[in-house]
Amino acid sequence: MVGLAPPSDPAAVVGLHGRPTRRTAPRFSHRRLPCPLCLCDRFLFVTFVSFAVSWLTVGVKSGRHFLQIPGPTNVPERILRAMSQPTIDHRGPGFAAIAREAIEGLQRVFQTSGPVVIYPSSGTGAWEAALVNTLSAGDTVLMFETGHFASLWRDMAARLGLKVDFVPGDWRHGVDPASVRHKLDEDKPRAIKAVAIVHNETSTGVASRIAAVRRAIDEAGHPALLLVDTISSLGSMDYRHDEWRVDVTVAGSQKGLMLPPGLGFNAISDKARIASASARLPRAYWDWEPMIRDNAAGFFPYTPATNLLYGLREGVRMLMDEGLANVFARHQRFAEATRRAVGAWGLQVLCANPDEYSSSLTAVVMPGGHDADTFRTIVLDRFDMSLGTGLGRLKGKVFRIGHLGDFNDLMLAGTLSGVEMGLAAAGVPFTRGGVTIALDYLASDVVEGQARKARTEDHTARASPSLR
Ligand code: PLP
Repeated sequence: MVGLAPPSDPAAVVGLHGRPTRRTAPRFSHRRLPCPLCLCDRFLFVTFVSFAVSWLTVGVKSGRHFLQIPGPTNVPERILRAMSQPTIDHRGPGFAAIAREAIEGLQRVFQTSGPVVIYPSSGTGAWEAALVNTLSAGDTVLMFETGHFASLWRDMAARLGLKVDFVPGDWRHGVDPASVRHKLDEDKPRAIKAVAIVHNETSTGVASRIAAVRRAIDEAGHPALLLVDTISSLGSMDYRHDEWRVDVTVAGSQKGLMLPPGLGFNAISDKARIASASARLPRAYWDWEPMIRDNAAGFFPYTPATNLLYGLREGVRMLMDEGLANVFARHQRFAEATRRAVGAWGLQVLCANPDEYSSSLTAVVMPGGHDADTFRTIVLDRFDMSLGTGLGRLKGKVFRIGHLGDFNDLMLAGTLSGVEMGLAAAGVPFTRGGVTIALDYLASDVVEGQARKARTEDHTARASPSLR
């Protein structure tokens, strides 16, 4: 088919590519080849575009990409659909109900009856909010080097003009409650104004025991605030803001809550609010008070991330539909199955203390002489799966398997299969069969898992009746 217009109008005869054919434009340039199909002069251009398209699509993989980094996590269809609704007036009546439901849902996830503020920010913004709302320049903060994120939070505190007492660590252990006790006992002048801890160190897969840290602070009789980062544990691992009397809990949207990145949270105790009244670090955007005031009516002091709030409301509904106790038990199973696979491969989990294993991710130590990032690249290229890179001093030495968020047994089976095939493809020395061990556990654990679930539910219900 050459022309679209009647041949009686030669000027209107166009070719396949929407250009005049040679019949109507006989003076095609000697620099261009005519198209062999319709004789127009766009042949070179069209040929170039089709080469470019085929080059770009060579790497396109069929099937679903496996996003197994420890956050951002896979965003479930329910949340994607919720977010795809039209953006509405954030000062109109329809908005307030959505915001209030999202905030109330978050309170249940944090296990608090106190305020939870929502910033349009990443987790780093929520870190900053926790510090600037509670502290003054020159205040001392006790922090612990549990890994990359604890180190970044320390850097931020120092940049804000706080004095940081940074207890060194080996990146394989969580915060030692005895060390917290010792530091606070030593602090006779009560210079330490806050103890700031990363609950789940995403760079190492090590979880600190917040309840035990709380006890250590109480036993020392020290008035320091307790600030906790739950960015990669909230909605995946048991966390109790009120029961553990945490003063500020920091979190973000992109991990256990199953949303895309873009929201940061602070859950705030009464004690933290009182401290904020006299805290003198400069704050404007991060100030809790205008947020808490406007949130009471379901509004925000500035334009909120409306569509992420739709997603947040849906994400919280999903967690509540499943039941928090079940969500935690599910994550524990994935973590246990993963560790069994790692052990069967003859590899080592980075976390050195079984009491501190993370349920949301597992960091795996690469055998000497093998680069974890080379392995990750092979897994990405061959099996279309993203694994977490080693961060900071762990670069090239570990890879991290994220098993949190919207995730099920078969997704874990696929993930571990990708790792096992990748180890073989990368020539890493290992023993085959880790996947089988993990599958055996997942299959046999159904009964045991149900029993544990019932036990956890019972425990959780006793601890916090509102959870059910
Ligand atoms: N804290 C922890 C434990 C994290 O895992 C992350 C990010 O992964 C952050 C803080 C920083 O959060 P963001 O990258 O959203 O600013």
